[in-house]
Amino acid sequence: MSIGSTAPTARLVVGRGNARVAARVGYAFSAYAALHGIRVVPAGPADVTVGYGESAETADVVIPAGYLPRPAATPAPPPTWIDGLPCFHPAPGGALDPLGEVFEWLAAPHEAACPEFDDVGRVPPRHTLAGTHGLDPRVPWANRFLARLHATVRSALPRLPATPPSPFPQRRVFVASHDVDHLSNRRFVNGRRIVENIGIALLQRRDPATAVQIGATALSRAAQRHPVAVGLRESLAGEAARGVRATYTVVAESLHPRDPGYRLDDDFVRRTLHAVAEAGHEIGVHGSYLSLERPGQLGREFALLTEAGFAVTGGRQHWLRHRGAELFDALVAAGAEWDSTRGHPDDVGFRHGAAFPFLPYDLATERALPVVEIPLVVMERALCSATPDPGAWGAITLNVLRAAGADGWGGVAVLWHDTAFTGTYLPGRLADAYWAALDGVVSAGDAWVTGGEVAAATRARWEAAGALRRPGAVVGGS
Ligand SMILES: [Zn+2]
Repeated sequence: MSIGSTAPTARLVVGRGNARVAARVGYAFSAYAALHGIRVVPAGPADVTVGYGESAETADVVIPAGYLPRPAATPAPPPTWIDGLPCFHPAPGGALDPLGEVFEWLAAPHEAACPEFDDVGRVPPRHTLAGTHGLDPRVPWANRFLARLHATVRSALPRLPATPPSPFPQRRVFVASHDVDHLSNRRFVNGRRIVENIGIALLQRRDPATAVQIGATALSRAAQRHPVAVGLRESLAGEAARGVRATYTVVAESLHPRDPGYRLDDDFVRRTLHAVAEAGHEIGVHGSYLSLERPGQLGREFALLTEAGFAVTGGRQHWLRHRGAELFDALVAAGAEWDSTRGHPDDVGFRHGAAFPFLPYDLATERALPVVEIPLVVMERALCSATPDPGAWGAITLNVLRAAGADGWGGVAVLWHDTAFTGTYLPGRLADAYWAALDGVVSAGDAWVTGGEVAAATRARWEAAGALRRPGAVVGGS
């Protein structure tokens, strides 16, 4: 996929600040141009010239410049509300600087300054930009800033479409994904899993009704000779009935007690995964618990799945386990094209304020990285925290996806573990919410595509937007 030569062109002129500011503002401008299918030219004539701050050059429009980098390990101070939006980088005079704000959300230097990790070793929600400052994570703040920027740019170039044009035939697309955390046909292994699930429902979630549901469902599934703890049969059947292709991520090598423990050379595992691939779904890498701690391990897991015959191009970390930049470094080293780890297990919404896929920014080298992040906006379990009313779970999911489609073309992911379809893991009605989400998207004329498809379209957009030709390794500045 590429952007045709008929794509509108834009040039950014940064009138103030040092090389670091220029790199960061340029990255944010690439995010804008990528979302809107605009080609960014580094020099020469363009359909629209956008000035950032006062510049010696004549620009068609001038964006207020407020962005100031903070020293590393300094979290973002509370925002100033300007025109209904929380601003971390107001321009002198109190104007809103959309490029500075978009950089703050996408590059997340605030999270890089996280003082303490949770017991899994992750940045907890309270140390994200939204969490620290009490901002609603279901509002795609970065999209809101980009919409303001677009209104300004469009005043100079009215032929630009009002809303971001989709790179797909359907206006909006979304990724349905399943992390395969359990895959065994051994009775003892499955029975032990059921006992654990009942314990988690009772002791961790204090949900005796679900504990009873798990026990009763396990018994009836066993009586019918259905796998008691594997829901792939159900997810595949429901997706086949709807003609939906999804992305299934797989742990290639278990090295830790918190890993699934299944093996790619196990006959049942191989047969199951080949059936998933033959049904037209994408297989991805579910990076194991220690995959970012052992040098080369994530790359090894990509290689193991490739050798097993699966054309993997990206994936998601098991337990969403990562701290920050080390994830993207490992993905780039592994040659991955996409990732969908950036979300939260128990919170619905947009961790980066971004309801669109983006290239992560490397604060160490001051450049965009050549891997596409597909924001994870709903993990099924988070719906239980959002409301105890199962009847609302499907609507919550669709509302988050609609928010992603209001100022964009989607490109975000939802995660339902296959075990959510067995009734032996989580409240059984989470499965209903998934089917409601699939049907709701399709009936709105939108579509479900794979992570790899979103990554290819996003990468082409960001390349045309100049994100990968920017020089890195800025020296000096603050
Ligand atoms: Zn997992």
